[in-house]
Amino acid sequence: MNICTSERIYQEALNVIVGGVNSPSRSFRAVGGGAPIFMKKAKGSHFWDVDGNRYIDYLAAFGPIILGHAHPAVHQAIVEASENGILYGTPTEKEVYFAKMLRSAIPSMEQIRFVNSGTEAIMTTIRLARAYTGRDKILKFAGCYHGHSDLVLVAAGSGPSTLGIPDSAGIPQSIASEVITIPYNDLDALQEAVNHWGDQIAAVLVEPLVGNFGIVPPQPGFLEKVNELIHQAGGLVIYDEVITGFRFHYGGIQTLYHIEPDLTALGKIIGGGLPIGAYGGRKEIMDKVAPMGPMYQAGTMAGNPLSISAGIACLQELSSPGLYEELAQKGKRLAEAIRQSAQENEIPITLNQYGGALTVYFTNQPVTNYEEAQASDGEMFAKFFRIMLEQGIYLAPSKYEAWFITTSHSDQDITETMKAVEHTFSQMASM
Ligand code: PMP
Repeated sequence: MNICTSERIYQEALNVIVGGVNSPSRSFRAVGGGAPIFMKKAKGSHFWDVDGNRYIDYLAAFGPIILGHAHPAVHQAIVEASENGILYGTPTEKEVYFAKMLRSAIPSMEQIRFVNSGTEAIMTTIRLARAYTGRDKILKFAGCYHGHSDLVLVAAGSGPSTLGIPDSAGIPQSIASEVITIPYNDLDALQEAVNHWGDQIAAVLVEPLVGNFGIVPPQPGFLEKVNELIHQAGGLVIYDEVITGFRFHYGGIQTLYHIEPDLTALGKIIGGGLPIGAYGGRKEIMDKVAPMGPMYQAGTMAGNPLSISAGIACLQELSSPGLYEELAQKGKRLAEAIRQSAQENEIPITLNQYGGALTVYFTNQPVTNYEEAQASDGEMFAKFFRIMLEQGIYLAPSKYEAWFITTSHSDQDITETMKAVEHTFSQMASM
């Protein structure tokens, strides 16, 4: 595959954009380095790069593009909205409509505020939990990524772990010392943390199904126990549903599992591909937010007509009956084929699949927490990634990310991907 134009642009990019990329997870450093592929166009399940190569896209822009690229309904909503002006700085009726849509899908979000990213949504839920409880400490799970605000970059996963940066530079020790990190799915560690710091914990941050060290579901009873122990200790439970919101179900993991947090953060899918975030929860807690209460949070771009219109269009599409079942069927078909091909080629993998999302770990051990994900073989993943890419299959360039199947992936895409996987594993077996 010829990627000489990507390579040329990358050299130019390195001169003006730090690392050549506007988000570290886009770089190919975790898969051996070199030029990342510069994309030019995308439609449905496909990408085209600047050299004219076509790819089947399983990145889905790290989650938001669940309907595929340039979906007609989302496209039309954005075009129509832009004709009426793109930013007002005043409230609009559409924001109210969209907030009502979100609340009817996720009833624990009694009151909602729109922001511009998942990072902002999480950062604000933390501030709010601190304002509400009068406490400072935050409990989080190792390897879970909650955006790049100071508190949650302590022992974060995803991008930072991929780059081997356990803690970001520039975060004061005083902030890091307010964060307690324990392994996911580990109830003993949770109990211990609560015994030790229970009366200081403002909130626990939970990915109710992990997407940031690959796809890792909560073990049965885990989420219930988190709620029970944190509530007993007087803290709040914050669900980070930035990835999981509307990914597996029309609503969140919370509505799928019938378990409610106190606060929820959303992002990604709810913007239909445009920048957005949202947080919300019980009215009594949300009443602390300005202008109702003493906790300040604001945003020039928050609730802008384009993001809101794209989000409404996206959610309307996602409410079609049978849509999530179909995504899950495709996920299962792909997962089974990958497992079978790995077995035939005697390549040890653990494949975690949930609905239309999956992660292939190069390990023969189960992956239920970050440590186990870390122990998977990154070099094997890099080989897998490169050979798949050569065949026009675009995966996230990190062993910690998920493959996201979108409604635009056709049976033919899946069949083509399965063939590429077979070829890749047989090449790897002969190396
Ligand atoms: N929370 C989770 C669970 C995420 O996966 C991400 C982004 N990958 C964020 C928060 C941060 O969202 P954003 O990149 O929109 O700031």
